Amino acid sequence: MKVYNTLTRRKEEFVPMEPGKVKMYVCGPTVYDYIHIGNARPYVVFDTVRRYLEYKGYDVTYVQNFTDVDDKIINRANKEGSTMREISDRFIAEAFKDADGLNVKRATIHPRVTDEMDGIIQMVQTLIDKGYAYEDKGTVYFDTKKFAEYGKLSRKNLDELIAGASDRVTVDEAKKNSTDFVLWKPKKEGEPSWSSPWGEGRPGWHIECSVMAKHHLGDMIDIHAGGEDLIFPHHENEIAQSEAANGCQFARYWLHNGFITVDNEKMSKSLGNFFTVRDIAAQFPYEVIRFFILNGHYRSPINFSRELMQSCQNGLERIKNCRKELAFYLKNCPDTKMTAEEEEKLSQLAQYQTQFEEAMDDDFNTADAISAIYELVRFANIWVKAEGSKEFVAKIQDMMDHLCGVLGIAEVEEETADAETEKIEALIAKRAEAKKNKDFAAADAIRDELSAMGITIKDTRQGVQWFRN
Ligand code: AMP
Ligand code: ZN
Repeated sequence: MKVYNTLTRRKEEFVPMEPGKVKMYVCGPTVYDYIHIGNARPYVVFDTVRRYLEYKGYDVTYVQNFTDVDDKIINRANKEGSTMREISDRFIAEAFKDADGLNVKRATIHPRVTDEMDGIIQMVQTLIDKGYAYEDKGTVYFDTKKFAEYGKLSRKNLDELIAGASDRVTVDEAKKNSTDFVLWKPKKEGEPSWSSPWGEGRPGWHIECSVMAKHHLGDMIDIHAGGEDLIFPHHENEIAQSEAANGCQFARYWLHNGFITVDNEKMSKSLGNFFTVRDIAAQFPYEVIRFFILNGHYRSPINFSRELMQSCQNGLERIKNCRKELAFYLKNCPDTKMTAEEEEKLSQLAQYQTQFEEAMDDDFNTADAISAIYELVRFANIWVKAEGSKEFVAKIQDMMDHLCGVLGIAEVEEETADAETEKIEALIAKRAEAKKNKDFAAADAIRDELSAMGITIKDTRQGVQWFRN
């Protein structure tokens, strides 16, 4: 399996530190508002990476944090006359609702910054003790000049960065170098704070992820992931802190998703060109949003548009209808052995799995993996026949379950016997009766009635199949 590693700018063979085990950390959202579809991309993409690793047999420990200490949260709390805790609790719950809707599996651990203060203070102290950090009036800075490899992830040259920054006027007097960044900052009036050896205060953003990764996964991890806007400075700074403090490499593979754009500009809260997942979910089912995200390669930009969402919805329906049809045949086909023709076709079936795995093994190419599923749909539509065997249908259904399950798409719920289902079944029975009595006008009227309810019916040799549109 090959993965593109931002650290080396190459696709590399994936070899975890410990055979069969993967330790993975994904930067999570700052919880001060609903997530937008750009934030949903790393959720869905890295959930799919995790699912594929699990499909390959790895035991994955997946950590995704919530940043629940931040200026934006404090500002919102002040505006609403609320507290930072109340705001973050609320938007953590909302983020989970969206993640569940998007069929994102819960992480093994979802740490929150406010629960990690001891570890944060300890790592800042270690950095001071080792000479990588310095304190000035309650603020602790990381000394970027002390970390020889600073810039290795973003491929930025430290001296050029310093020269570039000094052209701009706002240079913090206390900093030794303009590229130095804050590990701990002193309390401001009316803000939440924690006690530390440098006085009351709170941590900088970057140190939080270094500490949560260390606490829950150890000094060295296999995969660290997030959106590409995090490469610099966030991930560059995480590397500097963790490698300086722990004395070993931090993450072996760095994976970054590309942006979701609007009119080819990055979707972001600050530009105001964003659509929340919640708003889009009012117009399209959540599963379409997930499918939309997986329709592109995770490193390529995707331009968000209604038209693209609509075409994704149509594509997903095609797969779901095939799965419903398979479920119907599975229930109604004769329980016989496979025919000779089916035996022969079975060898073709394995090709789709190979095609799917080759796509996913090539840096998680979900777009090509979906093409393999479309081909499997085409195959099923041609070869699953009324006179066929249950065994053959079961094999295709099984393959469909596996491949769709890895991508977390096209799940087909069992129809529950609710009042509406009973009414549909009753109408279908009435129509069959009308047809038997050659009362075709009545039969057609029932078909129209069903159609008005959003139900399409299809006559087959096994009986009537119905679908919700
Ligand atoms: P934030 O809450 O802004 O730190 O973002 C949470 C995650 O969403 C990070 O991994 C970001 O890189 C990612 N992200 C933010 N905006 C976009 C976007 N427009 N497209 C793709 N990923 C994004
Ligand atoms: Zn992070």
